[in-house]
Amino acid sequence: MSIRTARVQRPFAAEGPPAALVLEGVTKHYGSAVGVDALELTIPAGELVTLIGPSGCGKSTTLRLAAGLERPDTGTIRVAGDVVADGRRFVDPERRRVGLVFQDYALFPHMTVGRNVEFGLDRLHRGERRARVGEVLDLVRLAHLANRYPHELSGGEQQRVALARALAPRPAVVLLDEPFSSLDESLRAQVRRDTVATLQETGTTGVLVTHDQTEALSVGTRVVVMRGGVIEQADTPETVFEQPATRFVASFMGDADFLPARVQRALLTCEIGIVSTVPGWANSDVDVDVVLRAHEVALHPDPGSSARVCAVEYHGAFVLHYVRLASGRTVRSWQPHTVRHPVGTAVAVTVAPGTTPTLLLGDRAITSPPADSSSEHRPSEPIELS
Ligand code: ADP
Ligand code: MG
Repeated sequence: MSIRTARVQRPFAAEGPPAALVLEGVTKHYGSAVGVDALELTIPAGELVTLIGPSGCGKSTTLRLAAGLERPDTGTIRVAGDVVADGRRFVDPERRRVGLVFQDYALFPHMTVGRNVEFGLDRLHRGERRARVGEVLDLVRLAHLANRYPHELSGGEQQRVALARALAPRPAVVLLDEPFSSLDESLRAQVRRDTVATLQETGTTGVLVTHDQTEALSVGTRVVVMRGGVIEQADTPETVFEQPATRFVASFMGDADFLPARVQRALLTCEIGIVSTVPGWANSDVDVDVVLRAHEVALHPDPGSSARVCAVEYHGAFVLHYVRLASGRTVRSWQPHTVRHPVGTAVAVTVAPGTTPTLLLGDRAITSPPADSSSEHRPSEPIELS
């Protein structure tokens, strides 16, 4: 009731700030290579969106187009509501209100930290410039290093200078292209936390390109999964991981195994037995593939089972078990580090209670029965259970 009232009282909510970045039907090809293809992407103000996909899928091209380092073949790009590129207009990078942070920092080696940060502030008066440099260096906790040169800093410190430089002109959006990939593992987590905290503290919208699934899910308020120059799915981290829209997203964002399965009268069965019920599919009889996540797959030693543990990988806190089923297909199961089923153990494979697995028809996820899937159309021959 109170939610309803609140909505009525805010009739102009839809007229909030314009999206920080919008790409509408943006295409960029390099000869025969597809950079991005008819890309539709909206980055709402205040979000930190992570962009992930295999190498060559168009992540950097997307950022370079937004920054003005590339011209789109077709389409429109807006930054904070202003058109910065379309068929007629092209606004230069330094006039776009876009900040950039790259993997290799791209600091000017012959300039001090202070001068590097000052670089994009030429439209301010000298006094304002100095004040702003001090402010952003404080923000990244590097004020004491303002007179050092880049080669006198650690990798993590250089990355913080690059972030300070990007933030100094108060951009509408900061674009970060794999900014942590040249840092070693231990430093990486710290610099990542600092970067996210700084973006949040300043309320800055960010787009962060990463090839690390954990980073994409843990850092992003939204996750955009790209492939071959197009977006496969753009949604909250939870939705992308738990309800992948396509087979590709399911396998790219986490450990996924696929088994042929059948939904018959609302029961989902596959080689490991009944997986779950599928409410709303009461009259259906459909062949699908079921997506099994390794953390949802349970194992119990069972001498009567034809499934066998075929490999065990120790990861520290968890142990990944590979199980070969009677069909020859393999499924994986994460177990706590105290559990070890040695190779060769016969195990019963089940799915953890409460799991709602993703179903695929072809390469796309389906949440409701396809048309023409009525059980009346099919002879009833249950698939073989092990
Ligand atoms: P990602 O950052 O996701 O790894 P990119 O956006 O860099 O991918 O590249 C997308 C596609 O465009 C790739 O096939 C790449 O080879 C191609 N590409 C990118 N930049 C250029 C360029 N300057 N010249 C030719 N091809 C390019
Ligand atoms: Mg790239």
